[in-house]
Amino acid sequence: MLNKKTAGPLKRETDIIVAGRHPETYYGFVNPPVYRGSTVLYPDLATFEKRQMPYPYGRMGSPTTTSLEEAMTRLEGGAGTVLTSSGLSAIAVALQSQLSSGDHLLVTDSCYAPTRKLCDMLLARFGVSVEYYDPRIGADIARLIRPETRVIFLESPGSQTFEIQDLSPMAQIARDRGIVTMIDNTWATPLFLRPLDLGIDISIHAATKYIGGHSDIMLGTVTANEATFEAVKATWNALGECAGPDVAWLGQRGIRTLSARLKEQMEAGLTVARWLEARPEIAQVLHPALESHPDHALWKQYFSGASSLFSIVLKPGPNAALAAFLDDLALFGMGASWGGYESLVLPFDPRAVRTATTWDAEGPAVRLHIGLEAIDDLLADLEAGLDRWRAAGGGS
Ligand SMILES: *Cc1c(COP(=O)(O)O)cnc(C)c1O
Repeated sequence: MLNKKTAGPLKRETDIIVAGRHPETYYGFVNPPVYRGSTVLYPDLATFEKRQMPYPYGRMGSPTTTSLEEAMTRLEGGAGTVLTSSGLSAIAVALQSQLSSGDHLLVTDSCYAPTRKLCDMLLARFGVSVEYYDPRIGADIARLIRPETRVIFLESPGSQTFEIQDLSPMAQIARDRGIVTMIDNTWATPLFLRPLDLGIDISIHAATKYIGGHSDIMLGTVTANEATFEAVKATWNALGECAGPDVAWLGQRGIRTLSARLKEQMEAGLTVARWLEARPEIAQVLHPALESHPDHALWKQYFSGASSLFSIVLKPGPNAALAAFLDDLALFGMGASWGGYESLVLPFDPRAVRTATTWDAEGPAVRLHIGLEAIDDLLADLEAGLDRWRAAGGGS
């Protein structure tokens, strides 16, 4: 879509619009068609013998998947991108692309819980030794590195608890020792953090979330730099990973409006976070863009914005009060995932999974996702919920 004669360096908002679009190859239509297909026909034996088709088989992609791959590669600044069937499978592809039996893997204690299960259940069975580290460890990660350490897995902010990691020194320490770094960049989206610019090798997204943007797809992306992309692509291929054409199409459609949605949701998220911070029922708001967040300075250093996912810790109260608060919310649905147009709540307890860090909060914790509803309606819904919390014996 770029007119190479006239396009200079572009802002990320513009990249999101133009990258991976080739209307000239689809009769001028703005968006790519959905190529539904398994078999790709070769015109003759010579072409077949040289595998000389741009798309040899449906699993290896189509112009529909290329559209989103190119957009992600441009936005993340990598050498290439593969699409996978979910965010979790993207993490699995990235980890398996770099690890072998006997290797040591360092994983942030704040990782998405299913990432942990993948490491403990599957990678451990294949002979990888998995060790969890405090997400706030920073340059002290050097103390955990062994001769056989092969990968450091990062996620910032941490799932549910929103610790921010000191990415640059960690990436540098790894690079100096020939260790690959990879990050789950789902929270920031490609708009608000460019991990490869900080020296991180691989950036992973659950495109299920903000990139899809409408709570209607499962999709993952892995974008890698020159040093790691070949292994990522080979592993992706060997595992038979792929995203179906309709899902890939929805992903490339969703990403075009990412910056408009995220700007709106960033503001709405901050407004709700600040409002909650002033409420007597709330012990703590875990939102890295709030000045009160313990890692706020690191967030400012690395991120150019915030998405609309954050957590609160309530003052202590009985479970019945939590149910009174959450069960009758009118606009906040209770459920996993996030990044769509609608607001969500999800209670959580990090004590259930963490091993390298402790969680001392006395009251219950709830993760909030702020969607695109009118702020006043969301605040009224939360206010009524907090009234119910107090009436049912919740602390204030
Ligand atoms: C949801 C999520 C994933 C997994 O994505 P799925 O598409 O649900 O498999 C991975 N990482 C983070 C941070 C997530 O929130």
